[in-house]
Amino acid sequence: MSLRPDLFAARVRAIGSPATVAVSNRMREMQRAGIDVVEFAGGDPDFPTPMHIVDAAYEAMRAGDTHYVASRGIPELRDALAAKLLRDNGLRYDPAREILVTPSGKHALFCATMALLDAGDEAIILDPSWVTYEACVRLAGATPVSVPLTVDDNFRITPDKLERAASPRTKLLIVNSPNNPTGRVLDGDELQAVAAFAQEHNLVVVADEMYEKIMYDGRQHVSLATLPGMRERTLTLNGFSKAYAMTGWRLGYIAGPADMIGEMLKVHEQSVSCATSFVQRGGLAALAGPQDCVAAMAAEYRARRDLIVNGLNRLPGVRCHLPEGAFYAFPDIRGTGMPSAAFAEFAISEAHVALTSGDAFGACGEGHVRLSFATSRERVVEGLERLARALAKLRVALGQPAVG
Ligand code: PLP
Repeated sequence: MSLRPDLFAARVRAIGSPATVAVSNRMREMQRAGIDVVEFAGGDPDFPTPMHIVDAAYEAMRAGDTHYVASRGIPELRDALAAKLLRDNGLRYDPAREILVTPSGKHALFCATMALLDAGDEAIILDPSWVTYEACVRLAGATPVSVPLTVDDNFRITPDKLERAASPRTKLLIVNSPNNPTGRVLDGDELQAVAAFAQEHNLVVVADEMYEKIMYDGRQHVSLATLPGMRERTLTLNGFSKAYAMTGWRLGYIAGPADMIGEMLKVHEQSVSCATSFVQRGGLAALAGPQDCVAAMAAEYRARRDLIVNGLNRLPGVRCHLPEGAFYAFPDIRGTGMPSAAFAEFAISEAHVALTSGDAFGACGEGHVRLSFATSRERVVEGLERLARALAKLRVALGQPAVG
């Protein structure tokens, strides 16, 4: 007998695998076939995790710290996170009740959407935005509602754009600054607009601050929860992946009002019990140890940003604004005449450059592609040269001048 057609849950059928994973898989296949591919697709820092962090986890493992630990996170790490949130973000959280340590920022988001959303609820997400927001909202059985942001307006959030997405069913709003994929950092007016809107409609806001340590040109990160009236309705999400080059460790955290954290804790306990014991020791070393590694990585991203943006702006039909934070360039490629997915396909097959089609991040990402510059300057230069050659060849084939 064949298995029933409704075997898989509708909420899982409603989501796909992240586009970023599909590109990475394609890239790995090509690499296995001996093709050298320049990798601009993923969001994984190319730096090694600083050695004092590795040592701390290794020593913890050797000392037998290989068992279950407190579900909320080891008390020492929660204390260090409370100190960090106060020092860096001006936010005071009770480490006993208002902070949850999770195996990744992604899992913190999953716990938040599962704890807050029911079928029939709506969650507002910005378009374009990180692929996982929409998926997590759908996995919770709720409906994502997009706020379209466009490059012509520098992807700015305005009160009227937010207002158009609101309904009596709206429960949650997810914002992200510095932003993946646009590189935007929310300015004071945008933060005010988000705060006023959330209060007017009585919403909870997930403020994803994963890239707070990677900002350029003297910009200062402002946590949404510091705005008047926001602490009680904001979940501040962050993690160790980007700031400390710890993607493979899977360590994140979320801070917010005790009742929200308490409900999220149930999802967390019943799904993973706790974040890995010795990984948390690594996280503790990251927070307690020297921070110059974080600044050094951010300075290197800044140099790469300038390199990649200048190079992209020299490509025919490509226009790239300057990212204000994070490590992604999000150029407008409409001038090439190719839709985003076609450009991404062209880049990997003709130039052996892996990048992500902009429409993976929402309909407003169409006309763009995302290039991660968490890769060395040499590879950035190599990738840009390959793209320039492939585009020039294409133009000749189309009977256009090679340089536009
Ligand atoms: N938030 C944003 C905006 C991201 O881009 C990512 C990862 O790419 C995350 C959160 C999650 O990071 P992790 O799950 O590695 O902690």
